[in-house]
Amino acid sequence: MMPRSVLSRCAPCMLRPLEAPFRYLFGPGPSNVPPRILAAGGRPIIGHMHSEMFGIMNDIKKGIQYAFQTSNNMTLAMSGSGHTAMECAVFNIVEPGESVLVAINGIWGERVAEIAERMGAKVHTLFKTPGGHFTNAEIEQALAKHKPVLFFLAHGESSSGLVHPVDGVGDICHKYNCLLLVDSVASLGAAPLLMDQQNIDILYTGSQKALNAPPGTAPISFSERACHKMFNRKTKPVSYLLDMTHLSNYWGNDGKPERKYHHTGPVSGFFALRESLAILAEMGLENSWSHHTEVAEYLWKGLEDLGLKLFIKDKDLRLPSVTTIAIPEGYDWKELLAYIMKHHQIEFTGGLGPSVGMVLRIGLMGYNCNKANAAMALAALEDALKQCRKSKA
Ligand code: PMP
Repeated sequence: MMPRSVLSRCAPCMLRPLEAPFRYLFGPGPSNVPPRILAAGGRPIIGHMHSEMFGIMNDIKKGIQYAFQTSNNMTLAMSGSGHTAMECAVFNIVEPGESVLVAINGIWGERVAEIAERMGAKVHTLFKTPGGHFTNAEIEQALAKHKPVLFFLAHGESSSGLVHPVDGVGDICHKYNCLLLVDSVASLGAAPLLMDQQNIDILYTGSQKALNAPPGTAPISFSERACHKMFNRKTKPVSYLLDMTHLSNYWGNDGKPERKYHHTGPVSGFFALRESLAILAEMGLENSWSHHTEVAEYLWKGLEDLGLKLFIKDKDLRLPSVTTIAIPEGYDWKELLAYIMKHHQIEFTGGLGPSVGMVLRIGLMGYNCNKANAAMALAALEDALKQCRKSKA
């Protein structure tokens, strides 16, 4: 045994109890987790390879199939946040040197372009400033020009508060032998999206937004077309952890009789995710969509009554889960956010990536999405607008 004097001492903070304050999480995520989901995540864990765990993973698969409106067999949850699903999609579908087209109208296109570039893809972009969206004609023109194997579109662009139209995009992609990858991290459960009907090849989301589970798991699904491409590649994907040949076996999707150890899945995270998907199934997708719209409209009206300007002018293009407000003239947005956090324990956020300095963001998702919370958010903002000095800049 080592003599005690050789060991360095642990920092005193580790000898104090854990402290985590209560906050109203009314930003773009994570959102507050309801007691039922917290309780599910707090259950004693079982082994990640126990038959009961495989049963829970099978339930999760059914829950995702419902939430995504897909019958895809290749449906599972990533052990990791939304970024894990983004990387899984790109790493498995694209081989180095292949062409990828990315729609950039906020941070998420930027991220996917970077992920694809890092793994050696030829990245082409379609670009709009935050708040902008692409017509199907613009998308078709770029597909014809660049002949990509994959086209990325964010359905809910949480950095700008835009919900992007998806109708027809899958058909156009398939006409050019391209797969359609859609990000629904911020929109799932809040705005209508139908994976199979809209011909989406790869769809992913995150656990921590309208699903209200803690961050750290990310549902994803692949169409047969996508499976054909990813399971007939010449090179191995750059990531072992995210290799779908292994993950499809771990999730029991590859038809093999035995599931083999690949990695230790986040058991508590999967318990919580199962419960969040069960809550969505009990509520029903249509009810969830209309509820988010109703509360968002109440919030939008309240914001306009305060004299604020919504960043997305066209109501039909506003993301119901994340509302963006143009920063009121003369105010320091950081001061507003700090005031609201200090005096109301409410988190709103500023912009993200290219929308920093352009917007304030309020997210009311799932469990947090109700008129009482919207009223609380409006009262906090009204108070902050009164109290925060107009900046001299
Ligand atoms: N896509 C969108 C639209 C998002 O809003 C987010 C999270 N803010 C992500 C992807 C990334 O998810 P995560 O932070 O869970 O990795």
